[in-house]
Amino acid sequence: MSASHLNQTKTEMSRKNILITGASVGGNTVAWWLSRQGFDVTVVERADSFRDGGQNVDVRGAGREVLRRMGLEQQAMELTTGESGTDWVDEENRVIARFAVEDIGDGPTSELEIMRGDISRIIYEPTQQKARYRFGDHIVKVDEDKTGSLVTFKSGIAERYDVLVVAEGVGSSTRALLFPGEYKMRYLDLTIAYFSIPGKENDGKFARQYNTTGGRGATLKPGSDGNIRVYMGIHKVSEEEQKWGTERQKQFLLDKFAHDGWEFPRILKEIPKVQDFYFDVMRQVKMDRWSAGSVVLTGDAAWCATPLSGIGTTLAIVGGYVLAGELSKTDDHVAAFAAYERIMRPFVKEGQGLPKIVPRLLWPHTRLGLAFLRTVMRLAGTRAVRKIFSTLFLRDSKKVELPDYNLNT
Ligand SMILES: Cc1cc2nc3c(=O)[nH]c(=O)nc-3n(C[C@H](O)[C@H](O)[C@H](O)COP(=O)(O)OP(=O)(O)OC[C@H]3O[C@@H](n4cnc5c(N)ncnc54)[C@H](O)[C@@H]3O)c2cc1C
Repeated sequence: MSASHLNQTKTEMSRKNILITGASVGGNTVAWWLSRQGFDVTVVERADSFRDGGQNVDVRGAGREVLRRMGLEQQAMELTTGESGTDWVDEENRVIARFAVEDIGDGPTSELEIMRGDISRIIYEPTQQKARYRFGDHIVKVDEDKTGSLVTFKSGIAERYDVLVVAEGVGSSTRALLFPGEYKMRYLDLTIAYFSIPGKENDGKFARQYNTTGGRGATLKPGSDGNIRVYMGIHKVSEEEQKWGTERQKQFLLDKFAHDGWEFPRILKEIPKVQDFYFDVMRQVKMDRWSAGSVVLTGDAAWCATPLSGIGTTLAIVGGYVLAGELSKTDDHVAAFAAYERIMRPFVKEGQGLPKIVPRLLWPHTRLGLAFLRTVMRLAGTRAVRKIFSTLFLRDSKKVELPDYNLNT
């Protein structure tokens, strides 16, 4: 059968009416693929407009391969942050260990490191010409029957859909509505804050990772816009700080780092003025199933692996491609969801496979722990072991067999 005949058959077969909720990396990727296969796609996003924000994210291995298949890899590469690698530094910014991209390829700094808003936007922009986007609305009720769901939105609109794809991120409210008691959170005991501050001439092109005692540390990453991206981390048991208001979260950081040296005085001075403040408690989402009836979860809503995995965005892109590919193969969405889950499970397991000891070792509490970390880093930064070391701490971004679905692009 010729490719055009095959595609025509697919289009006839699958004029399904699909609702995707969440217009970030995961939701936009599903919409990109499905809208090109003849599905009728609506995307609903809780925010009032496309959400730009967020800091540096990595696209690695299979995620890059999917971008290549979408014809977007080059565009993404042109938007990379230009970070040359990662340095572990001491109080005086002296380098303890260097992991340069040119030496080790995808290491602590990925070859395709891009702002979250940029990667989401390059997928969103071509998709919004083919799919319907609705901002400032969200699901409040879903009545499912054998042929799909009647979905009611906050705005009062009620519409029927054959399939509902939930891509609402780690805190998904539709997941809470439709899968109550079916998801567990695995807390990694790390509270994080990401934001931007003005850069200085001598900040350089390398990310700088600095740790002190008390489970505290920060990374400064160069941005392409002259700003520096700050990643602050505190190793502690969660108090559900992600639910606090922004002012309380900012004060928490000001108190925690008030007496520290290194670059902290400069960072703390900016915190009250910061606009793009992202604060979270790192937690993985664990679920025994990702679908029920005509509803399926994808991206962080299904399996959040956390930024610590380095492959959260990769998983969202690959998951979007596999879900769309399987839905395009058959009219039986239940069979498609089962195949999607079979393909994605091992990859997600890899992404989530970070032992809890890793954050503990990387954010030491005592002087002894800090001295140990720096000794390990010194060793890890030597030519002989740095490649092995970086793969040890990173999840395998190629651990998935990407099917070729012969999709329209
Ligand atoms: C504003 C923002 C900033 C981020 N910053 C970083 C960062 O700096 N570093 C990093 O590693 N990761 C960051 N992330 C997370 C990163 O984007 C994801 O881990 C990864 O790309 C997987 O994407 P996702 O599409 O599954 O989920 P997310 O990127 O979390 O997207 C979920 C989307 O669903 C929307 N949404 C939520 N609830 C509803 C609802 N009920 N109805 C409709 N829409 C809803 C959200 O507004 C969001 O657009 C950020 C996410 C967001 C939303």
